[in-house]
Amino acid sequence: ASRCDSVDRVSLLPALTGTFGDAPDAVRVGDHATDFADLAGAAGALSRRIKGARSAAVVATSTVETVVAVLAGLAAGVPVVPIPPDAGTGERDHILRDSQADVLLNATTGPEGVEAVPTRPNDRAPWTEPPKGETALILYTSGTTGKPKGVPITSEAIAACLDGLAAAWDWTSDDRLVHALPLYHVHGLVLGVLGALRTGSRLHHTGKPRPDLLANANGSLYFAVPTIWHRVAAAPAEARKLSSARLLVSGSAALPAGVFTALRELTGQAPVERYGMTETLITVATRADGNRQPGAVGVPIKGVETRVDDTGALEVRGSTVFAGYLGRPDATEAAFTDDGWFRTGDVATIDADGVHRIIGRASTDLIKTGGYRVGAGEIEDALLTHPAVHEAAVVGRPDDDLGQRIVAYVVADAVSEETLVEHVATTLSAHKRPREVVFVEELPRNALGKIQKHKL
Ligand code: ATP
Ligand code: MG
Repeated sequence: ASRCDSVDRVSLLPALTGTFGDAPDAVRVGDHATDFADLAGAAGALSRRIKGARSAAVVATSTVETVVAVLAGLAAGVPVVPIPPDAGTGERDHILRDSQADVLLNATTGPEGVEAVPTRPNDRAPWTEPPKGETALILYTSGTTGKPKGVPITSEAIAACLDGLAAAWDWTSDDRLVHALPLYHVHGLVLGVLGALRTGSRLHHTGKPRPDLLANANGSLYFAVPTIWHRVAAAPAEARKLSSARLLVSGSAALPAGVFTALRELTGQAPVERYGMTETLITVATRADGNRQPGAVGVPIKGVETRVDDTGALEVRGSTVFAGYLGRPDATEAAFTDDGWFRTGDVATIDADGVHRIIGRASTDLIKTGGYRVGAGEIEDALLTHPAVHEAAVVGRPDDDLGQRIVAYVVADAVSEETLVEHVATTLSAHKRPREVVFVEELPRNALGKIQKHKL
């Protein structure tokens, strides 16, 4: 029998319905550990308090309480809206208003911690039903290219994505998943929490994304973003401890080739990359038994199809893809082709074996300069092969003569602009050389380590 109230959405998570065994530390976040039964019990109690709500906002701190709050929403049949804990009042208000959340879960105080969200007079609009299916989560995009958009995600899409990844990675209840990802995006919440509860694997969220905490957590499966893998690779003694892990997975942004190679040398195994986005969940992944190459993000998971058009634009369709943005029919319309494929906004190549490589975003990473089309990522990789360069971000800036001019932002030790320009011109070709190099202390990044190029 189900340990939670509602069978429907919680059946998405067999670990909570008693299908898997009960290690006392089945779910550990920081210092706080719980077994599946206690987790389900706490979620069930909280779910009774929020039944009938339109949607429930959760301030998604990295705690067991956030996990309980999310599961309570699933059990109550109330869409859950995670809010980044460090969001400013502007972002928080945007999400609360846009999602039309009418309760706010402050799960740290247990089942009593349910607050009604004050309804503003101009917010009394009728609840806009998401276009299709039953919404389990409303996640907001990272806001890399504009204001974060609300994405209703169904339990069917979540199940399809997790089952596809479990098959690709041989992910089972024998695994122990370790990560330190924020719990308000697909990566940390859908893969990193619901994935563990669907496969019955144990979960250890280390709280802080510190290489030593990750390396000493003794996982079989690791999820992280490139900035964290970069930090792990920079701590060789810790990185070597990961040689006993089964699978190291990277995603959310491109993994630099140098980090890929360093991890392979230190741990004895190459990381696997996967690709996806809030709207489509994860669609493409390198399989555990697949060919691991730097820059390759793998093949479509089961239930997903992909194609690239003649400009390189990547489009996807299938069981993981959402039906439309919350309250944004205009954006929804623009996001789908006439024949129903979702436009990812990313540029990619697919080779004869079906292996995908992400060139970058059409809007910021594809630079049109002097009649050439140049991928920013290729130039960034070339810059990173120079020993003085630690980080690089390349953008196209409007230019009367060239259309766009290649500008490189770098975090580097003492090195001249000329040296770096020359380095790119000889590594790649002359037309790919930056016309300007800007030396900066750090690159603007969001919580997932994505470089915010619009700020450059
Ligand atoms: P917004 O849509 O608000 O501008 P965003 O696109 O960054 O923000 P997300 O849905 O969190 O919001 O991120 C999806 C994007 O992340 C993808 O479109 C792609 O550009 C990038 N991405 C994810 N995984 C990878 C990967 N393995 N390699 C390269 N890029 C990736
Ligand atoms: Mg996006």
